[in-house]
Amino acid sequence: MDKNMQGKIVKGISGFYYVHVAGSGIYECKAKGIFRNQKIKPLVGDNVTIAVLDEEQMLGNIEEILPRENALIRPAVANIDQALVIFALENPTPNLTLLDRFLVMMEQQNVPTAICFNKRDLAGEDYTDHLRSVYENCGYRVFTVSAAKEQGMQEVEAYLKGKTTVVGPSGVGKSSVMNILFPKAQMETGEISKKLKKGKHTTRHSQMIPIDHETYLCDTPGFSSLYTTDMEKEELKNFFPEFHPYEGKCRFLGCIHGKEPGCAVKEALEQGNISKERFENYTMFYEELKEQEKRRY
Ligand code: GDP
Ligand code: ZN
Repeated sequence: MDKNMQGKIVKGISGFYYVHVAGSGIYECKAKGIFRNQKIKPLVGDNVTIAVLDEEQMLGNIEEILPRENALIRPAVANIDQALVIFALENPTPNLTLLDRFLVMMEQQNVPTAICFNKRDLAGEDYTDHLRSVYENCGYRVFTVSAAKEQGMQEVEAYLKGKTTVVGPSGVGKSSVMNILFPKAQMETGEISKKLKKGKHTTRHSQMIPIDHETYLCDTPGFSSLYTTDMEKEELKNFFPEFHPYEGKCRFLGCIHGKEPGCAVKEALEQGNISKERFENYTMFYEELKEQEKRRY
């Protein structure tokens, strides 16, 4: 007695896919025939149809991967609407280089991103305002919240509602924010990990946490050690949105905003219209890409 249902892959581990079906729960599925039929490998985030093989045990087989909105490479997930990057303002002080790496990576993959600074109860107002203006000037939406005092959380919740959002990185006060927003998320994660226990896998993969049938959070453990790769150094400037207004205004065609004279970006930097910290990170990432390039040839 086959029954077909539609759901979303929330986790994939060594040939098993965990498919969340709204209102029913999570089915453990194989993907027999999918690669042969569709020539693509299922990704976390894929919307799929499954044939239920055993209703009691909640086992199934993925029959079809529905058309993708997009597919990211880092993290390897499909159908992402946006990203939210969470950093504490204090304790620990934010690693702005890591934040900028994350932003570059999302820009490169065309994912709209907002920034959530947590622990605003611990931070000085001047510092908070400074960071807000730095990142708002780049065009990012900035939320400042206190999970401990439950301040500023409604705006973040509204941003996430009805969307599938990549959330990262961990180790900087993320869990507190997520737990205030979605106490339910913990339960759902529990349900998934219970199912996964028998596999006893220690590797950490990306997973989707279903909040409601149209809201998902994509939790990505890999983000704390993230690197700017898969990029030509000349492309990097495209992923700093605050440089865009100056594109084509430098004296030299193809100016990389380094040592060239008559550089419009460096002029904006001197006038305080581009943030010094961001520009320093741009220069640092550029040098890294240059080093990588040297090693390639
Ligand atoms: P994660 O492991 O990076 O996700 O960090 P947690 O969310 O677990 O938070 C780390 C620590 O910071 C915990 O001891 C929290 O109680 C504390 N913390 C989290 N949010 C806030 C906040 O808004 N204000 C203050 N003062 N402490 C916070
Ligand atoms: Zn320039």
